[in-house]
Amino acid sequence: MSGHLVERIGEALQSAHRILLATHLRPDGDAIGSLVGLGLALLEGGKSVQMVLDDGLPAQFQHLRGAEQIRRNIEGRFDLAVALDCSDRSRLGRFGQEIEEWDLNIDHHVTNSSYARINLIEVEAVATAEIVATNLERWGFQISKSVADALLLGILTDTIGFRTHNMRPDVLRLAAKLMDAGGDLPNLYARYLYQKPFEAVKMWGSGLSRLRRKNGLVWTVLTNQDRSSAGYPGKDDADMINLLSAIEDAQISVVFVEQPNGKVKVSWRAVPGLDVSQIAVHFGGGGHPAAAGAELSGDLQELYEAVLEKTYLHLEANQKDS
Ligand code: AMP
Ligand code: MN
Ligand code: MN
Repeated sequence: MSGHLVERIGEALQSAHRILLATHLRPDGDAIGSLVGLGLALLEGGKSVQMVLDDGLPAQFQHLRGAEQIRRNIEGRFDLAVALDCSDRSRLGRFGQEIEEWDLNIDHHVTNSSYARINLIEVEAVATAEIVATNLERWGFQISKSVADALLLGILTDTIGFRTHNMRPDVLRLAAKLMDAGGDLPNLYARYLYQKPFEAVKMWGSGLSRLRRKNGLVWTVLTNQDRSSAGYPGKDDADMINLLSAIEDAQISVVFVEQPNGKVKVSWRAVPGLDVSQIAVHFGGGGHPAAAGAELSGDLQELYEAVLEKTYLHLEANQKDS
């Protein structure tokens, strides 16, 4: 880890009184986990803390202790602004523009644009929550049970239950430490990784019914109609992308999710050795080599063809054997 940066972050957190924490739109478990984990630790350390999210807390995280403190609006003043798990300003929603100077940017995305005064970008980290958990005590704050649960949630979800290719032995040791601090691994595992709402699984059925493949590329589409006929309340793919990447010979999998606002959300997943983050960046998104996403405007059919062509060309140019 970048020791000097870590130290400067500790000093910044210690000397601030009112700290604003924000994370990315459409927050995943790591966004919420790193936000709530750091937020609660700072609160328990006597700081005044605001946790904000432009598009609010998704229903699935309502039961996480501390998440109820997340607000949609900034209330009052703050003297330190911290962005977590967020690769660029636009992903902070309106806060990305409203706040000109971000003080701290703590993240693990290779596509991070280093938009803050101090940028701690650890691309080897499996989750932003890992970076927070590793450094929290060095920064002078403690890991209570609620903090441990939030940070474990972040690590668990970004590694899909410790099974992504960036897993390191240290991550398991850190998870054990979070369990020692009271983190409830089996409960978090069930709630955030394994269990799905009935409606989600029903929606998968629509996606699976149009599953396609071309050599090592596997893809499908979820439409607004699929969502409403299944009664699925979210705008996401209900983790359908993980089903596709479980297909044996899928080297790259792609899910297109039509959005109620007319946009199209695209998710990519790749096996080690391929890098889908650059394809996502080409379409205005970002992410990691193995997992990336973008939100596109335009006609579903046209975007679909453009994305598939670009992705297929990338696969053809980079695949080792087929
Ligand atoms: P997803 O497919 O939404 O699960 O995202 C996979 C990875 O790509 C996550 O690490 C996201 O943070 C990142 N990502 C998704 N959408 C975007 C976007 N519009 N811009 C930048 N990064 C994104
Ligand atoms: Mn995230
Ligand atoms: Mn993350």
